[in-house]
Amino acid sequence: TYVIAQPCVDIKDRACVIECPVDCIYEGARTLYINPSECVDCHACEPVCPVEAVFHEDDLPPHWEHYLTVATEYFDEV
Ligand code: SF4
Repeated sequence: TYVIAQPCVDIKDRACVIECPVDCIYEGARTLYINPSECVDCHACEPVCPVEAVFHEDDLPPHWEHYLTVATEYFDEV
């Protein structure tokens, strides 16, 4: 899955939402979230993010690795 990390907080540009072919990017109160169980790893969202907030889960910077857990828990609770 792809993951949206800290740079999206309070930005929520939504360029990724327009690009996502399976509409798996959702808007929360302060950030956007990719649903890990719906993402098809197409990569379309990553290059369009103006703040470079989107990473493949295997490429997350170490200090943002917990954002995968954050997203997973977000959709478990929705
Ligand atoms: Fe959507 Fe593709 Fe980004 Fe996954 S990688 S969130 S399917 S645009």
